[in-house]
Amino acid sequence: MLDSSVLEIAAIITHFLKITCFEIPNNIVKDSNHHAFPYRFLNKTLANGETCKRDWLCWSVEKQSLYCAPCFLLNKNAANVSFFSSSAGWGISRGWRRLKDRIPSHESSIYHKENYVVWKSASRAALCETSVDNLLLSELKTETENWKKLFQRILDVIIFLSERGLAHFGSNQRIGDRVNGNFLGIIELLSKYDPLLAEHVKHVRESQQCKQRMQAHYFSTRIQNEFIDICGSYVQTPILHEIVKAKYFSIIVNATPDCSYKEQTTLVIRYAKILDNSNFSVEERFILFENFSKKTGREIAARTLEISKTLKLDFETCIGQAYDNGANMTGKYNRVQAVLIQQNPNCMFSSCGNHSLNLVGVDCAESCKEAVTYFGTIQQMYNLFSSSPQRWAILKQHLPVSLHGMSKTRWSARIDGVKQDAQHLNSVRSALNELEVLHLTAQAKMELNAIQKYISEFDCILMSSI
Ligand SMILES: [Zn+2]
Repeated sequence: MLDSSVLEIAAIITHFLKITCFEIPNNIVKDSNHHAFPYRFLNKTLANGETCKRDWLCWSVEKQSLYCAPCFLLNKNAANVSFFSSSAGWGISRGWRRLKDRIPSHESSIYHKENYVVWKSASRAALCETSVDNLLLSELKTETENWKKLFQRILDVIIFLSERGLAHFGSNQRIGDRVNGNFLGIIELLSKYDPLLAEHVKHVRESQQCKQRMQAHYFSTRIQNEFIDICGSYVQTPILHEIVKAKYFSIIVNATPDCSYKEQTTLVIRYAKILDNSNFSVEERFILFENFSKKTGREIAARTLEISKTLKLDFETCIGQAYDNGANMTGKYNRVQAVLIQQNPNCMFSSCGNHSLNLVGVDCAESCKEAVTYFGTIQQMYNLFSSSPQRWAILKQHLPVSLHGMSKTRWSARIDGVKQDAQHLNSVRSALNELEVLHLTAQAKMELNAIQKYISEFDCILMSSI
Protein backbone atom coordinates (compact mmCIF):
# COMPACT_ATOMS: atom_id res chain seq x y z
CA MET A 1 0.00 0.00 0.00
CA LEU A 2 1.15 3.56 -0.67
CA ASP A 3 2.50 5.59 2.16
CA SER A 4 0.29 8.69 2.50
CA SER A 5 3.37 10.76 3.46
CA VAL A 6 4.77 10.24 -0.09
CA LEU A 7 1.67 11.88 -1.50
CA GLU A 8 1.84 14.68 1.04
CA ILE A 9 5.51 15.45 0.23
CA ALA A 10 4.79 15.36 -3.52
CA ALA A 11 1.85 17.72 -2.99
CA ILE A 12 3.98 20.09 -0.87
CA ILE A 13 6.73 20.23 -3.54
CA THR A 14 4.17 20.87 -6.27
CA HIS A 15 2.54 23.53 -4.18
CA PHE A 16 5.92 25.12 -3.41
CA LEU A 17 7.02 25.10 -7.03
CA LYS A 18 3.75 26.64 -8.15
CA ILE A 19 4.49 29.67 -6.03
CA THR A 20 6.17 32.23 -8.25
CA CYS A 21 5.62 35.26 -6.07
CA PHE A 22 6.40 35.29 -2.37
CA GLU A 23 4.61 37.80 -0.22
CA ILE A 24 7.06 39.69 1.98
CA PRO A 25 5.22 41.31 4.92
CA ASN A 26 5.15 45.12 4.79
CA ASN A 27 5.57 45.58 8.56
CA ILE A 28 9.11 44.21 9.12
CA VAL A 29 10.52 45.98 12.18
CA LYS A 30 13.72 48.11 12.15
CA ASP A 31 17.02 46.49 13.16
CA SER A 32 19.02 47.42 16.28
CA ASN A 33 20.72 50.31 14.38
CA HIS A 34 17.25 51.73 13.51
CA HIS A 35 17.66 50.82 9.84
CA ALA A 36 14.39 50.02 8.07
CA PHE A 37 14.00 46.95 5.86
CA PRO A 38 15.08 47.96 2.29
CA TYR A 39 11.80 47.21 0.51
CA ARG A 40 12.97 48.76 -2.75
CA PHE A 41 15.52 45.94 -3.17
CA LEU A 42 12.68 43.43 -3.51
CA ASN A 43 12.50 44.77 -7.09
CA LYS A 44 15.33 45.40 -9.52
CA THR A 45 15.67 47.89 -12.34
CA LEU A 46 16.73 46.46 -15.67
CA ALA A 47 19.11 48.18 -18.12
CA ASN A 48 16.14 49.36 -20.21
CA GLY A 49 14.67 51.08 -17.14
CA GLU A 50 11.93 48.46 -16.63
CA THR A 51 11.30 47.28 -13.02
CA CYS A 52 10.76 43.59 -12.23
CA LYS A 53 10.22 41.69 -9.05
CA ARG A 54 12.98 39.53 -7.50
CA ASP A 55 10.67 36.51 -7.37
CA TRP A 56 13.32 34.26 -5.79
CA LEU A 57 13.22 36.07 -2.45
CA CYS A 58 10.96 34.61 0.22
CA TRP A 59 10.28 35.36 3.88
CA SER A 60 10.01 32.89 6.78
CA VAL A 61 7.39 34.00 9.29
CA GLU A 62 8.70 31.53 11.86
CA LYS A 63 12.37 32.56 11.63
CA GLN A 64 11.72 36.19 10.63
CA SER A 65 14.42 35.83 7.96
CA LEU A 66 14.88 36.38 4.25
CA TYR A 67 15.78 33.40 1.99
CA CYS A 68 16.60 32.64 -1.64
CA ALA A 69 14.06 29.92 -2.52
CA PRO A 70 15.97 28.22 -5.40
CA CYS A 71 19.30 28.13 -3.53
CA PHE A 72 17.69 26.98 -0.27
CA LEU A 73 15.91 24.11 -2.07
CA LEU A 74 18.50 23.08 -4.67
CA ASN A 75 21.97 24.08 -3.46
CA LYS A 76 23.91 20.86 -2.89
CA ASN A 77 27.42 22.29 -2.80
CA ALA A 78 28.46 23.28 0.74
CA ALA A 79 31.05 25.68 -0.65
CA ASN A 80 28.31 27.77 -2.25
CA VAL A 81 26.23 28.29 0.89
CA SER A 82 25.32 31.95 1.34
CA PHE A 83 23.24 33.46 4.15
CA PHE A 84 20.23 33.34 1.81
CA SER A 85 20.48 29.55 1.46
CA SER A 86 21.54 28.73 5.05
CA SER A 87 19.06 27.32 7.56
CA ALA A 88 19.04 30.60 9.54
CA GLY A 89 18.57 32.84 6.47
CA TRP A 90 19.22 36.59 6.60
CA GLY A 91 17.62 37.74 9.84
CA ILE A 92 17.34 41.01 11.73
CA SER A 93 20.57 40.30 13.69
CA ARG A 94 22.59 40.74 10.47
CA GLY A 95 21.15 44.20 9.95
CA TRP A 96 18.95 45.35 7.09
CA ARG A 97 21.38 47.92 5.72
CA ARG A 98 23.81 45.36 4.25
CA LEU A 99 21.02 43.80 2.21
CA LYS A 100 21.29 46.42 -0.50
CA ASP A 101 24.74 44.98 -1.41
CA ARG A 102 24.13 41.34 -0.54
CA ILE A 103 20.97 40.86 -2.63
CA PRO A 104 22.51 42.02 -5.96
CA SER A 105 25.79 40.15 -5.30
CA HIS A 106 23.91 36.88 -4.52
CA GLU A 107 21.80 37.37 -7.61
CA SER A 108 24.85 37.72 -9.86
CA SER A 109 26.63 34.59 -8.51
CA ILE A 110 26.96 31.64 -10.94
CA TYR A 111 25.45 29.02 -8.61
CA HIS A 112 22.39 31.23 -7.95
CA LYS A 113 21.81 31.59 -11.68
CA GLU A 114 22.04 27.81 -12.18
CA ASN A 115 19.68 27.10 -9.30
CA TYR A 116 17.27 29.79 -10.53
CA VAL A 117 17.05 28.22 -14.01
CA VAL A 118 16.36 24.72 -12.57
CA TRP A 119 13.80 26.15 -10.15
CA LYS A 120 11.98 28.10 -12.86
CA SER A 121 11.79 25.13 -15.26
CA ALA A 122 10.57 22.87 -12.42
CA SER A 123 7.89 25.43 -11.54
CA ARG A 124 6.76 25.55 -15.16
CA ALA A 125 6.60 21.72 -15.31
CA ALA A 126 4.61 21.60 -12.06
CA LEU A 127 2.07 24.00 -13.49
CA CYS A 128 1.71 21.83 -16.59
CA GLU A 129 -0.74 18.93 -15.95
CA THR A 130 1.05 16.54 -18.29
CA SER A 131 4.39 16.82 -16.50
CA VAL A 132 5.96 13.57 -15.22
CA ASP A 133 5.55 14.74 -11.60
CA ASN A 134 1.88 15.42 -12.04
CA LEU A 135 1.23 12.18 -13.92
CA LEU A 136 3.03 10.28 -11.15
CA LEU A 137 1.06 12.10 -8.50
CA SER A 138 -2.28 11.37 -10.15
CA GLU A 139 -1.27 7.71 -10.53
CA LEU A 140 -0.48 7.53 -6.80
CA LYS A 141 -3.84 9.11 -5.99
CA THR A 142 -5.74 6.62 -8.20
CA GLU A 143 -3.94 3.71 -6.56
CA THR A 144 -4.78 5.04 -3.07
CA GLU A 145 -8.45 5.38 -4.05
CA ASN A 146 -8.49 1.82 -5.43
CA TRP A 147 -7.08 0.40 -2.18
CA LYS A 148 -9.70 2.31 -0.20
CA LYS A 149 -12.46 0.84 -2.39
CA LEU A 150 -10.98 -2.63 -1.99
CA PHE A 151 -10.89 -2.28 1.81
CA GLN A 152 -14.53 -1.17 1.74
CA ARG A 153 -15.51 -4.39 -0.04
CA ILE A 154 -13.46 -6.60 2.32
CA LEU A 155 -14.90 -4.82 5.36
CA ASP A 156 -18.48 -5.17 4.05
CA VAL A 157 -18.06 -8.95 3.60
CA ILE A 158 -16.65 -9.27 7.16
CA ILE A 159 -19.55 -7.25 8.61
CA PHE A 160 -22.10 -9.26 6.57
CA LEU A 161 -20.79 -12.60 7.91
CA SER A 162 -20.35 -11.33 11.47
CA GLU A 163 -23.90 -9.92 11.67
CA ARG A 164 -25.32 -13.33 10.70
CA GLY A 165 -22.96 -15.27 12.99
CA LEU A 166 -21.51 -17.22 10.04
CA ALA A 167 -18.03 -18.76 10.12
CA HIS A 168 -15.42 -16.80 8.12
CA PHE A 169 -12.71 -19.37 7.65
CA GLY A 170 -12.67 -22.65 5.80
CA SER A 171 -10.21 -25.53 5.63
CA ASN A 172 -7.72 -23.52 3.56
CA GLN A 173 -7.16 -20.02 2.14
CA ARG A 174 -6.74 -20.88 -1.54
CA ILE A 175 -8.68 -18.83 -4.08
CA GLY A 176 -10.93 -21.07 -6.18
CA ASP A 177 -11.05 -23.90 -3.61
CA ARG A 178 -14.54 -25.03 -2.61
CA VAL A 179 -13.62 -25.38 1.06
CA ASN A 180 -11.88 -22.00 1.47
CA GLY A 181 -14.68 -20.70 3.71
CA ASN A 182 -17.51 -18.18 3.53
CA PHE A 183 -15.30 -15.08 3.45
CA LEU A 184 -13.24 -16.05 0.40
CA GLY A 185 -16.36 -17.61 -1.18
CA ILE A 186 -18.27 -14.30 -1.06
CA ILE A 187 -15.18 -12.38 -2.24
CA GLU A 188 -14.97 -14.71 -5.26
CA LEU A 189 -18.72 -14.30 -5.94
CA LEU A 190 -18.51 -10.48 -5.79
CA SER A 191 -15.43 -10.49 -8.03
CA LYS A 192 -17.59 -11.90 -10.84
CA TYR A 193 -19.45 -8.59 -10.99
CA ASP A 194 -16.84 -6.13 -9.67
CA PRO A 195 -13.86 -5.39 -11.97
CA LEU A 196 -11.71 -3.91 -9.17
CA LEU A 197 -12.14 -6.97 -6.94
CA ALA A 198 -11.76 -9.29 -9.95
CA GLU A 199 -8.34 -7.78 -10.74
CA HIS A 200 -7.17 -8.16 -7.13
CA VAL A 201 -8.49 -11.74 -6.81
CA LYS A 202 -6.70 -12.60 -10.08
CA HIS A 203 -3.36 -11.34 -8.68
CA VAL A 204 -3.83 -13.28 -5.43
CA ARG A 205 -4.79 -16.48 -7.30
CA GLU A 206 -1.73 -16.18 -9.60
CA SER A 207 0.62 -15.60 -6.67
CA GLN A 208 -0.86 -18.64 -4.86
CA GLN A 209 -0.50 -20.81 -7.98
CA CYS A 210 3.17 -19.76 -8.41
CA LYS A 211 3.65 -20.25 -4.64
CA GLN A 212 4.92 -16.67 -4.41
CA ARG A 213 3.91 -14.88 -1.27
CA MET A 214 2.17 -11.59 -2.09
CA GLN A 215 3.39 -8.77 0.10
CA ALA A 216 -0.14 -7.79 1.16
CA HIS A 217 -3.44 -9.10 -0.19
CA TYR A 218 -5.65 -8.43 2.87
CA PHE A 219 -7.54 -11.75 2.57
CA SER A 220 -5.68 -13.57 5.37
CA THR A 221 -7.34 -14.77 8.56
CA ARG A 222 -5.11 -12.41 10.56
CA ILE A 223 -6.43 -9.37 8.67
CA GLN A 224 -10.02 -10.57 9.06
CA ASN A 225 -9.53 -10.90 12.82
CA GLU A 226 -7.95 -7.45 12.90
CA PHE A 227 -10.95 -5.96 11.06
CA ILE A 228 -13.34 -7.75 13.48
CA ASP A 229 -11.40 -6.34 16.47
CA ILE A 230 -11.57 -2.82 14.99
CA CYS A 231 -15.34 -3.20 14.38
CA GLY A 232 -15.70 -4.46 17.99
CA SER A 233 -13.95 -1.45 19.49
CA TYR A 234 -15.94 0.83 17.15
CA VAL A 235 -19.17 -0.54 18.70
CA GLN A 236 -17.75 -0.77 22.24
CA THR A 237 -16.44 2.81 22.47
CA PRO A 238 -19.84 4.65 22.37
CA ILE A 239 -21.29 2.13 24.88
CA LEU A 240 -18.40 2.81 27.28
CA HIS A 241 -18.96 6.56 26.84
CA GLU A 242 -22.62 6.09 27.81
CA ILE A 243 -21.59 4.11 30.92
CA VAL A 244 -19.06 6.77 31.99
CA LYS A 245 -21.73 9.44 31.46
CA ALA A 246 -24.25 7.45 33.54
CA LYS A 247 -21.53 7.10 36.26
CA TYR A 248 -23.10 4.19 38.23
CA PHE A 249 -23.32 0.70 36.79
CA SER A 250 -23.76 -2.99 37.65
CA ILE A 251 -21.91 -5.97 36.24
CA ILE A 252 -23.24 -9.34 35.14
CA VAL A 253 -20.69 -12.12 34.53
CA ASN A 254 -21.39 -15.59 33.19
CA ALA A 255 -19.38 -18.32 31.50
CA THR A 256 -20.12 -21.22 29.21
CA PRO A 257 -17.96 -23.46 27.00
CA ASP A 258 -18.23 -22.78 23.24
CA CYS A 259 -18.28 -25.43 20.50
CA SER A 260 -14.47 -25.63 20.56
CA TYR A 261 -14.59 -26.33 24.35
CA LYS A 262 -13.07 -22.97 25.31
CA GLU A 263 -14.54 -21.35 28.38
CA GLN A 264 -16.10 -18.09 27.14
CA THR A 265 -16.69 -15.62 29.95
CA THR A 266 -19.09 -12.81 29.10
CA LEU A 267 -19.28 -9.40 30.72
CA VAL A 268 -22.56 -7.48 30.59
CA ILE A 269 -23.00 -4.00 32.05
CA ARG A 270 -26.30 -2.57 33.23
CA TYR A 271 -26.71 1.19 33.59
CA ALA A 272 -29.20 4.04 33.33
CA LYS A 273 -28.69 5.80 30.01
CA ILE A 274 -29.27 9.53 30.29
CA LEU A 275 -31.69 10.64 27.55
CA ASP A 276 -32.19 14.23 28.73
CA ASN A 277 -32.37 16.07 32.06
CA SER A 278 -35.29 14.11 33.50
CA ASN A 279 -35.48 10.93 31.40
CA PHE A 280 -33.49 7.69 31.65
CA SER A 281 -33.68 4.30 30.03
CA VAL A 282 -32.25 1.16 31.65
CA GLU A 283 -29.73 -0.47 29.31
CA GLU A 284 -28.10 -3.88 29.54
CA ARG A 285 -25.12 -4.08 27.16
CA PHE A 286 -22.86 -6.96 26.26
CA ILE A 287 -19.28 -5.68 26.45
CA LEU A 288 -16.94 -8.58 25.66
CA PHE A 289 -16.11 -12.27 25.49
CA GLU A 290 -13.03 -13.48 27.32
CA ASN A 291 -11.46 -16.90 26.87
CA PHE A 292 -10.83 -17.47 30.56
CA SER A 293 -10.46 -21.04 31.81
CA LYS A 294 -9.65 -20.34 35.46
CA LYS A 295 -12.50 -21.20 37.77
CA THR A 296 -11.77 -20.06 41.31
CA GLY A 297 -13.61 -17.07 42.74
CA ARG A 298 -10.41 -15.08 43.40
CA GLU A 299 -9.12 -15.59 39.85
CA ILE A 300 -12.42 -14.58 38.22
CA ALA A 301 -12.74 -11.54 40.52
CA ALA A 302 -9.15 -10.44 39.77
CA ARG A 303 -9.77 -10.78 36.03
CA THR A 304 -13.06 -8.85 36.29
CA LEU A 305 -11.21 -5.99 38.03
CA GLU A 306 -8.47 -6.08 35.38
CA ILE A 307 -11.02 -5.89 32.58
CA SER A 308 -12.86 -2.94 34.15
CA LYS A 309 -9.49 -1.17 34.50
CA THR A 310 -8.64 -1.85 30.83
CA LEU A 311 -12.03 -0.48 29.81
CA LYS A 312 -11.31 2.61 31.96
CA LEU A 313 -14.39 1.98 34.12
CA ASP A 314 -14.09 3.22 37.68
CA PHE A 315 -14.91 0.17 39.83
CA GLU A 316 -15.64 2.53 42.75
CA THR A 317 -18.86 3.49 40.91
CA CYS A 318 -19.95 -0.14 40.41
CA ILE A 319 -23.03 -0.52 42.60
CA GLY A 320 -24.21 -4.03 41.74
CA GLN A 321 -23.10 -7.49 40.69
CA ALA A 322 -25.24 -10.38 39.49
CA TYR A 323 -24.34 -13.99 38.66
CA ASP A 324 -25.96 -17.38 38.37
CA ASN A 325 -25.97 -19.57 41.48
CA GLY A 326 -22.55 -21.17 40.90
CA ALA A 327 -20.71 -21.68 44.20
CA ASN A 328 -17.51 -20.01 42.88
CA MET A 329 -19.48 -16.85 42.08
CA THR A 330 -21.94 -16.44 44.93
CA GLY A 331 -20.29 -18.14 47.96
CA LYS A 332 -19.60 -16.07 51.06
CA TYR A 333 -15.85 -16.72 51.39
CA ASN A 334 -13.22 -16.06 48.69
CA ARG A 335 -15.88 -16.18 45.97
CA VAL A 336 -16.29 -13.56 43.26
CA GLN A 337 -19.03 -11.54 44.96
CA ALA A 338 -17.21 -11.61 48.35
CA VAL A 339 -13.87 -10.53 46.82
CA LEU A 340 -15.49 -7.69 44.86
CA ILE A 341 -17.39 -6.47 47.94
CA GLN A 342 -14.04 -6.28 49.78
CA GLN A 343 -12.82 -3.99 46.98
CA ASN A 344 -15.96 -1.89 46.92
CA PRO A 345 -18.55 -2.33 49.74
CA ASN A 346 -21.22 -0.57 47.60
CA CYS A 347 -21.07 -3.29 44.96
CA MET A 348 -24.23 -5.08 46.16
CA PHE A 349 -24.71 -8.71 45.09
CA SER A 350 -27.97 -10.22 43.90
CA SER A 351 -28.26 -13.67 42.34
CA CYS A 352 -29.95 -14.06 38.96
CA GLY A 353 -33.74 -14.31 39.58
CA ASN A 354 -34.45 -16.24 36.37
CA HIS A 355 -31.71 -18.73 37.11
CA SER A 356 -32.97 -19.26 40.68
CA LEU A 357 -36.54 -19.74 39.44
CA ASN A 358 -35.27 -22.26 36.89
CA LEU A 359 -33.52 -24.22 39.66
CA VAL A 360 -36.74 -24.20 41.73
CA GLY A 361 -38.65 -25.61 38.73
CA VAL A 362 -36.04 -28.32 38.12
CA ASP A 363 -35.93 -29.38 41.78
CA CYS A 364 -39.75 -29.39 42.16
CA ALA A 365 -40.24 -31.54 39.07
CA GLU A 366 -37.53 -33.97 40.10
CA SER A 367 -39.13 -34.49 43.51
CA CYS A 368 -42.52 -35.39 41.96
CA LYS A 369 -42.74 -39.01 40.69
CA GLU A 370 -45.63 -38.25 38.28
CA ALA A 371 -43.81 -35.29 36.71
CA VAL A 372 -40.60 -37.31 36.23
CA THR A 373 -42.57 -40.08 34.41
CA TYR A 374 -44.56 -37.60 32.30
CA PHE A 375 -41.59 -35.50 31.08
CA GLY A 376 -39.46 -38.62 30.65
CA THR A 377 -42.11 -40.23 28.41
CA ILE A 378 -42.54 -37.05 26.32
CA GLN A 379 -38.77 -36.99 25.71
CA GLN A 380 -38.75 -40.71 24.91
CA MET A 381 -41.57 -40.23 22.39
CA TYR A 382 -39.67 -37.37 20.72
CA ASN A 383 -36.54 -39.57 20.52
CA LEU A 384 -38.55 -42.47 19.05
CA PHE A 385 -40.01 -40.38 16.21
CA SER A 386 -36.99 -38.18 15.50
CA SER A 387 -34.46 -41.03 15.27
CA SER A 388 -35.84 -42.18 11.88
CA PRO A 389 -37.08 -40.11 8.87
CA GLN A 390 -39.72 -42.81 8.17
CA ARG A 391 -41.18 -42.54 11.69
CA TRP A 392 -41.05 -38.74 11.51
CA ALA A 393 -43.01 -38.82 8.21
CA ILE A 394 -45.72 -40.96 9.87
CA LEU A 395 -45.93 -38.46 12.75
CA LYS A 396 -46.28 -35.54 10.28
CA GLN A 397 -49.19 -37.32 8.55
CA HIS A 398 -51.13 -37.45 11.83
CA LEU A 399 -49.96 -34.29 13.57
CA PRO A 400 -50.37 -30.82 11.98
CA VAL A 401 -47.54 -29.41 14.14
CA SER A 402 -44.01 -30.48 15.01
CA LEU A 403 -42.90 -32.13 18.30
CA HIS A 404 -40.09 -30.59 20.42
CA GLY A 405 -37.45 -32.15 22.67
CA MET A 406 -37.18 -31.20 26.35
CA SER A 407 -34.72 -28.40 27.11
CA LYS A 408 -32.23 -29.41 29.79
CA THR A 409 -31.19 -25.92 30.82
CA ARG A 410 -34.25 -23.72 30.42
CA TRP A 411 -37.12 -25.34 32.30
CA SER A 412 -39.65 -22.77 31.05
CA ALA A 413 -38.92 -23.82 27.44
CA ARG A 414 -40.51 -27.23 28.22
CA ILE A 415 -43.98 -25.69 27.88
CA ASP A 416 -43.43 -25.61 24.08
CA GLY A 417 -42.44 -29.27 24.14
CA VAL A 418 -45.45 -30.37 26.14
CA LYS A 419 -48.08 -28.19 24.45
CA GLN A 420 -48.18 -30.12 21.14
CA ASP A 421 -48.52 -33.52 22.83
CA ALA A 422 -51.15 -32.33 25.29
CA GLN A 423 -53.31 -30.70 22.62
CA HIS A 424 -53.07 -33.56 20.10
CA LEU A 425 -53.01 -36.68 22.31
CA ASN A 426 -55.37 -38.65 19.99
CA SER A 427 -53.31 -37.86 16.89
CA VAL A 428 -50.11 -38.87 18.69
CA ARG A 429 -51.78 -42.14 19.73
CA SER A 430 -52.76 -42.89 16.09
CA ALA A 431 -49.20 -42.18 14.92
CA LEU A 432 -47.82 -44.51 17.60
CA ASN A 433 -50.26 -47.28 16.51
CA GLU A 434 -49.04 -46.93 12.92
CA LEU A 435 -45.43 -47.45 14.06
CA GLU A 436 -46.37 -51.03 15.07
CA VAL A 437 -46.36 -52.18 11.42
CA LEU A 438 -42.75 -51.04 10.88
CA HIS A 439 -39.74 -53.31 11.35
CA LEU A 440 -38.57 -51.89 14.67
CA THR A 441 -35.65 -53.04 16.80
CA ALA A 442 -36.44 -54.86 20.03
CA GLN A 443 -35.43 -51.75 22.02
CA ALA A 444 -37.71 -49.48 19.93
CA LYS A 445 -40.60 -51.95 20.25
CA MET A 446 -40.20 -52.02 24.00
CA GLU A 447 -40.19 -48.20 24.15
CA LEU A 448 -43.22 -48.00 21.85
CA ASN A 449 -45.23 -50.39 24.05
CA ALA A 450 -44.33 -48.45 27.20
CA ILE A 451 -45.30 -45.11 25.62
CA GLN A 452 -48.58 -46.49 24.21
CA LYS A 453 -49.46 -47.88 27.62
CA TYR A 454 -48.61 -44.65 29.45
CA ILE A 455 -50.44 -42.18 27.19
CA SER A 456 -53.69 -44.13 27.59
CA GLU A 457 -53.50 -43.88 31.37
CA PHE A 458 -55.40 -41.37 33.49
CA ASP A 459 -52.07 -40.02 34.93
CA CYS A 460 -50.92 -38.91 31.48
CA ILE A 461 -54.23 -37.25 30.61
CA LEU A 462 -54.28 -35.43 33.95
CA MET A 463 -50.66 -34.26 33.64
CA SER A 464 -51.30 -33.06 30.08
CA SER A 465 -54.33 -31.07 31.27
CA ILE A 466 -52.31 -29.50 34.10
ZN1 LIG B 1 20.02 32.12 -4.75
